[in-house]
Amino acid sequence: MGIDFTLSAEQIGLRQAARDFATQVLKDVRKTIRQYSRPDERFYATRPFLQKAADAGFVKGLFPKEYGGAGIPTLDFALAAEELAAVDVNVPSTLLGNGLCVKPVVIFGTEEQKRRFLPDFVEDGTRLGALAYTEVTGGANYDTPDPRYGVRTFAIREGDEWVINGEKHYTTNGTGWDGKNCHLYAVVCRTDPGKSPQESLAVVMVPGSLPGIKVTGLIDTVGHRATVSPRMKFENVRVPLDNMIGKPGDGIKIVSTNFAWTAALIGAACVGVMRAAFDHALEFAKKDARSGPHPIIDYPTVGYMLADMKMRIEACRYLTWKSCQQFDLSGGKEQELAVMTKVFCSETCVDVVYDAMRVVGVDSYTDMHPLAELMNDAMCFPLYDGGNMGARRRQLHSIIKSPGYDSHLAPYGVFGHAK
Ligand SMILES: Cc1cc2nc3c(=O)[nH]c(=O)nc-3n(C[C@H](O)[C@H](O)[C@H](O)COP(=O)(O)OP(=O)(O)OC[C@H]3O[C@@H](n4cnc5c(N)ncnc54)[C@H](O)[C@@H]3O)c2cc1C
Repeated sequence: MGIDFTLSAEQIGLRQAARDFATQVLKDVRKTIRQYSRPDERFYATRPFLQKAADAGFVKGLFPKEYGGAGIPTLDFALAAEELAAVDVNVPSTLLGNGLCVKPVVIFGTEEQKRRFLPDFVEDGTRLGALAYTEVTGGANYDTPDPRYGVRTFAIREGDEWVINGEKHYTTNGTGWDGKNCHLYAVVCRTDPGKSPQESLAVVMVPGSLPGIKVTGLIDTVGHRATVSPRMKFENVRVPLDNMIGKPGDGIKIVSTNFAWTAALIGAACVGVMRAAFDHALEFAKKDARSGPHPIIDYPTVGYMLADMKMRIEACRYLTWKSCQQFDLSGGKEQELAVMTKVFCSETCVDVVYDAMRVVGVDSYTDMHPLAELMNDAMCFPLYDGGNMGARRRQLHSIIKSPGYDSHLAPYGVFGHAK
């Protein structure tokens, strides 16, 4: 048996469906959201696009078949994500936000929790979920062992309830469609201020309809313009004990598995954005002579740069495919490759979009071309989803220095069989 990168007929069909959806529907997102100056209004304007994405079956893909979903493998999701992100990053980012909320239930929840929390999202594909992880004081040190630092959102047990207090921000989707709350939050918190995250970090599912959940502000981002980033306050929010996924102390495992899933998929979004920048620069280089004697692609500097860009895009695509497959085969346990994908593809994406701007020249820095907007979207990738400097490189550092580290596990580890 050899290694086969050939896509199956279903995968080719899925990719084509995603490409058609992106080029026919999502192509209008940018011009739609440009009409609004407030970040929440831009986000609300994407609701019809999300509805269409749900109608086309892209939301269902996030959920297992047993709960009404389509249960598509992460690699297949990546094939679709590349196509969507090549045209718009905002609607895919809403899907990613939903995924961050529900994946703890999908991967670590009990049967009862899955039945309670998942089918709602399939029934109405525009229902929104959010992961409330990032503290207003920073996210990188959420697992710092000293209990005086890190996550300051607490779920304190009172009888048969958790009482949650804390403040979060960048809680994607957290405003819901009404500016008040979304359908469900996965809140990252600690159950005891005196205990380390290793003993007390937890993920608690919080329905948005409960009293005590407030949107206290909105952060405006320079890219991902219609991804809503609210500040949230949880004030004496009471949930039953069985809304916790796993037990206190399971939080680090749940959060890192969650972010391994997004890490692998963000590779696909980066490939989509790079691809869009490359295609634009290539077309420009072939057509435009910049008042010279021939199209600029004939200058070796331009041609070589385009070749270098394309090489990096291809490398990122196959790394992404491998890490998505690895995520599923290992049940999310092997995370080195996923984190490397996130770091490598996101930083390569910024470089490649910048190179596309250098090919096009000064006009790329204006609204005559889409590249400056793509750059604003690209710059988010290394910074969000656990920034590459604080959280992600630290994850890699700790994996590499761990006593049982096997450098061959990521490339060659055998984890099981793909579903
Ligand atoms: C569009 C968008 C969507 C987002 N969606 C969500 C979401 O849905 N839910 C959510 O909870 N968050 C979300 N975030 C926040 C995002 O996940 C952040 O990347 C994450 O919270 C970590 O931020 P940070 O790495 O910059 O950490 P910070 O804690 O802000 O650290 C900042 C910097 O300090 C330095 N630093 C800090 N600690 C260390 C350390 N231990 N070692 C080395 N350097 C260190 C690093 O240079 C680091 O880059 C979103 C952000 C954006 C922009």
